[in-house]
Amino acid sequence: MAEKFGSSGARRGHQVIGRLRERPPALWYRGEQIKDVTAHPALRGGVQTLARLYDLQWERPDISLFDSPSTGHKVARSFMMARTHAELASISAAMKVWEDHTFGMMGRVPDYINRAMTGYAAGAPFLAEADPRFGENARRYYEYLRENDLCLTHTLIPPQANRSVSLTKQADPFLAARVKEETDAGIVIRGCRMLATLPISDEIMVFPSTLLKSGEEDAPYAFGFSIPNDTPGLRFICRESVDYGRSHFDHPLGSRFEEMDAVVIFDDVFVPWESVLLYRDVKRCNEAYARTGAVVHMTHQVVIKNIAKCEFLLGLAHLMVSTIGVEAFQHIQEKLAEIWVNLETMKAFMRAAEADAALDEWGVMRPAWNPLDAARNLFPRLYPRMVEIIQQIGASGLVAMPTEADVKGPLADDIRKYYQAARADAFDRVPLFRLAWDASISAFASRQVLYERFFFGDPVRMAGALVMGHAAQIQQYAEKVREFVRQNRDEAFAQASPSTAASA
Ligand SMILES: Cc1cc2nc3c(=O)[nH]c(=O)nc-3n(C[C@H](O)[C@H](O)[C@H](O)COP(=O)(O)OP(=O)(O)OC[C@H]3O[C@@H](n4cnc5c(N)ncnc54)[C@H](O)[C@@H]3O)c2cc1C
Repeated sequence: MAEKFGSSGARRGHQVIGRLRERPPALWYRGEQIKDVTAHPALRGGVQTLARLYDLQWERPDISLFDSPSTGHKVARSFMMARTHAELASISAAMKVWEDHTFGMMGRVPDYINRAMTGYAAGAPFLAEADPRFGENARRYYEYLRENDLCLTHTLIPPQANRSVSLTKQADPFLAARVKEETDAGIVIRGCRMLATLPISDEIMVFPSTLLKSGEEDAPYAFGFSIPNDTPGLRFICRESVDYGRSHFDHPLGSRFEEMDAVVIFDDVFVPWESVLLYRDVKRCNEAYARTGAVVHMTHQVVIKNIAKCEFLLGLAHLMVSTIGVEAFQHIQEKLAEIWVNLETMKAFMRAAEADAALDEWGVMRPAWNPLDAARNLFPRLYPRMVEIIQQIGASGLVAMPTEADVKGPLADDIRKYYQAARADAFDRVPLFRLAWDASISAFASRQVLYERFFFGDPVRMAGALVMGHAAQIQQYAEKVREFVRQNRDEAFAQASPSTAASA
């Protein structure tokens, strides 16, 4: 947070690339530190798409941008603190532009964390209750992000070493990132966090997950701060890329939308106090996402992604079906219907969340939580099933699939003849089915499925949190049923009594 304004608001793609070149995050890939993330074959496709998204916001500024309340510059609308329903709807419309461009396949388009930090800044009074500096830091950092239009990754959970014991009882207490030292100037963090998606970004938000249990024991693991990705001692170990450096024709999704996931290592990373928002307060850390509203604003963004993904899969499935002439089969219609129902379900959740939005305790128009909570619990089950449907429709067509080199090679005539379809010639059918392959069976597709299953948390524990969080509502319905059971029993006994009496 050392840099100050001097910015001109919403960025364009070349500025995104320029900053990544000037201040590269320490990304490690297959045993080597990447020198230029914008040029590396494993990452450059994703970087180019990221840059394109920032250009896109200037192509539709009326939708994507708004006037900064502090500088008057045009800034990204995903930083807006909505006060009205109309403003909230305008944020969704802006977020949909990026989701449409990526078909929802880049879960971490920057507005995901933009919404989180906007929530944290709005809920700054909650952070200030612990320390007035933390509230002030949240507000200042949010303005800094908004005015510089920076892009963030984030990391919440400790490494997957031993999930059956607490953080302090791991083989090494510094396995999970924890406070090593505290000074007048700040804190020093040592250890690891798993995971951070979109390490091809400018800064990282290191926030608590809600896994912390006990007060004193977990206190050294309880913190929230954001720092630049090139902070000394900060390292990212990337997984193997699902962009194999092939053409857009061969890997239409993987070559464009590889956002990358990385394990984050803190090798005695110094974090100045001005970057800290939460510290050593386990209860407050566990409550922060909900109380500030950050989790609601993030989930709002997530459901827009879900809608874009359903729209994409529905369109893809329909084209596949008509291309190979299977539209008359009933089970095919049933499968198309299933995706359509999923789409309309997500749209309905979104609409309900926005229609029932209300001003929260910070004066921000907060989408209603229940429909969003339902959506985030449901989608991890819907997405793998929709991918399965693409596999079921495509069948062997997903693997009987030549590459760009084949199509342009000496066997082009064979391909023209043998890859034709009912309603497409081979050279239309092949790119369509390559897209279906990349959406359903490639490495890129598998990682998408894993992402949707887990990125928002373990679905099992999310369901547990749901049942606890909505306990009062669930109890209401239990009471209603209990009353019916009671009446039913009483009626039965009331009917039984006269005859019992007669026989006696
Ligand atoms: C592609 C991808 C991208 C991600 N991106 C990010 C990111 O950018 N930032 C970030 O912070 N996180 C990210 N995550 C991590 C995500 O938050 C976690 O995957 C999720 O919280 C589950 O934790 P885990 O993966 O450590 O699974 P684990 O907690 O290790 O669980 C492993 C298995 O054990 C079960 N299990 C473990 N503990 C319990 C328990 N107490 N009760 C019941 N069952 C249990 C789980 O159900 C699961 O089946 C990402 C994950 C994926 C897959």
